[in-house]
Amino acid sequence: LSQADLPKQPKRVSLSTGEIPAAQRETSDPQPGKPRSQIQLALAVGLACLTFGVLGGMAALQARLGSNLTIVPPDSSSVTTSEGRPASPADPELSPESNPDTLLGHYPYAEAPLRELVPISRDGSVQLRQAAAEKYLAMAAAAEAEGIYLVPLSGFRSQADQEYLFFEIKAQRGQDASKRAEVSAPPGYSEHHTGYAIDIGDADVPAVNLSPDFENTRAFQWLKENAAFYNFELSFPKGNTQGVSYEPWHWRFVGNSDSLETFYKARSAQSSPNP
Ligand SMILES: [Zn+2]
Repeated sequence: LSQADLPKQPKRVSLSTGEIPAAQRETSDPQPGKPRSQIQLALAVGLACLTFGVLGGMAALQARLGSNLTIVPPDSSSVTTSEGRPASPADPELSPESNPDTLLGHYPYAEAPLRELVPISRDGSVQLRQAAAEKYLAMAAAAEAEGIYLVPLSGFRSQADQEYLFFEIKAQRGQDASKRAEVSAPPGYSEHHTGYAIDIGDADVPAVNLSPDFENTRAFQWLKENAAFYNFELSFPKGNTQGVSYEPWHWRFVGNSDSLETFYKARSAQSSPNP
């Protein structure tokens, strides 16, 4: 914070005296209290700067650690489980691990309002929330200009979609819940519910769709270098502390306040993996 950031008292005074009738000036501009209020203002501004500095540092740390660090707010009453009940530390469905809101390493997410979803694939089957959709399409166009063809594989998913992906596939493959959760979020805990997450493929190499080998495609290399310019980031990098498998194909939009808060603010803010 520099001196220049503080309000310039003389300018404010001349402005207000010019606009306020003479009869009212004395009451609206208390001279005796001014020096003290200036100090109070400076203190308040300084405190605000300090607070933002600390929060900013925490956010930066969080980003550096691959979004695995959670800032836990004192109030968790707004968080609900997959069944829509308020979550509490005593909830038997929630993981007993450090964060009581996680389930098998995944964080709870609410479903995006359907009216906010717009199609990003030709057949309309893949949808994202408006802001994310616009940036995804711009990103895909930029990639295409360089001869790289991104394919949207999966965007918004409802809890019902996720029920199938988690439980049916789990049963088909004979996986236990923990094993399934390494590659798929339980219903209510998928980033895809938010309408801000998308699984991306490379049109030239469909064989590696939703596979770790996607990282060897030109599409992934391009995304690694360019996605941040469109406010997309990798949700599950290698070695993420959520214990979720590396998912080079799964990206999330963090380009507005709502999406940023969705993924980073306290407990409702982490992630889940998806196939
Ligand atoms: Zn995904």
